[in-house]
Amino acid sequence: MGIHFGFMPSVLLSIAFVLVMVAVIFVPAWIFVQRWRKTNTRYQRWKTNHCITCNYDLRAHKPGDKCPECGTPVPEPHGIMLGKGDRP
Ligand SMILES: [Zn+2]
Repeated sequence: MGIHFGFMPSVLLSIAFVLVMVAVIFVPAWIFVQRWRKTNTRYQRWKTNHCITCNYDLRAHKPGDKCPECGTPVPEPHGIMLGKGDRP
């Protein structure tokens, strides 16, 4: 009776609901984690004076130069950024 016709759609609805919840929760979480990892990787590269794009070692290059590997401008070293308040 009602159980026979009501059971399958409710199971399907539950599965659909779970899939929607997984999509709603995990897709933004996944995007967030990917963005965070990318930002963190760039920060780690910048902190160690490596190119933020290709991880080329830029310790021998001055800020304003371009990365010889990918052309990304060399950023200010973190030491200069930290001492921003100091005036010459
Ligand atoms: Zn590079």
